[in-house]
Amino acid sequence: MSQTKIIDGKAVSAQIKQQVAVQVSALNEKGIQSCLAVILVGDDPASRVYVNNKKKACEVCGIRSLEYTLSAQTTQDELLALIAKLNQDPDVNGILVQLPLPRHISEDAVISAIDPAKDVDAFHPINVGKIMQGTCTLLPCTPAGIMELIASTEIPVAGKDCVVIGRSNIVGKPMAMLLLHKNGTVTICHSKTKDLKQKCKAADILVAAVGIPKFVTADMVKEGAVVIDVGINRLEDGSLCGDVDFDGVAPIAGAITPVPGGVGPMTIAMLMQNTLTATKDQNKVS
Ligand code: NDP
Repeated sequence: MSQTKIIDGKAVSAQIKQQVAVQVSALNEKGIQSCLAVILVGDDPASRVYVNNKKKACEVCGIRSLEYTLSAQTTQDELLALIAKLNQDPDVNGILVQLPLPRHISEDAVISAIDPAKDVDAFHPINVGKIMQGTCTLLPCTPAGIMELIASTEIPVAGKDCVVIGRSNIVGKPMAMLLLHKNGTVTICHSKTKDLKQKCKAADILVAAVGIPKFVTADMVKEGAVVIDVGINRLEDGSLCGDVDFDGVAPIAGAITPVPGGVGPMTIAMLMQNTLTATKDQNKVS
């Protein structure tokens, strides 16, 4: 049995936020402020929690945060008008619209309306294209955070067989790209994949972004593999559970992320990193 390393997402994320804070403070000395605008439409309680956490992270990093809370009845045109105003505002470096949006608003239209230079979620089609090319300075937060977690294990990605379960636009696809850019050999699996268990079992690095509690079981994991659990599933008793059966898989894995305390905290840390990058790019400083 291998010695399993539990990857501490809270510690890595705190380190990244600390590094961001140092760089934000250096920008301040040059007279440059960093500012993130967050827009929340409606009163989804989970979204409220995420927005509050983003605000707290901004405070830790010395980033100014602006919050726009709009009613669930806000029209798409009203939301687009606010985005247009923030696009024009030179004091705003990053714009984030908290998803999901009410059903009468098109997420695609909203994402495409954000200035790509201020698109700190990196969801704009221009940024998605650049991510594919490997030329985007703004990286999709959850996959970028996962790359940091893998780096923290000091296990190189180059040459490794990487399996990503899930092909969503926000996690699975960009995750596969980032692993590919680090010279991993990447397989993307989804609900139509055949022989999923065998494919997973061949993985040196296995990323589960499925949205099904305890989907990845011990018999799907190679001895010593790095197992990254992206899933955030709320169980009936209110507790959080990942997509990986942690208790079963941890004794086999070489390194594994817990839920909570693994990938979750990294997403916000990378949002802070992206806001810093956007601020630097817009002010043409390195
Ligand atoms: P989606 O629902 O958009 O995608 C899920 C993916 O899993 C799809 O590609 C789907 O395949 C695939 N899938 C579903 N069932 C199976 C199956 N039986 N076998 C193989 N593949 C399957 O989810 P997201 O990518 O948005 O999120 C995934 C998880 O990560 C969720 O739990 C979410 O809460 C969490 N999450 C966590 C974040 C964090 O910060 N930690 C950030 C974002 C998400 P198909 O395409 O064929 O339908």
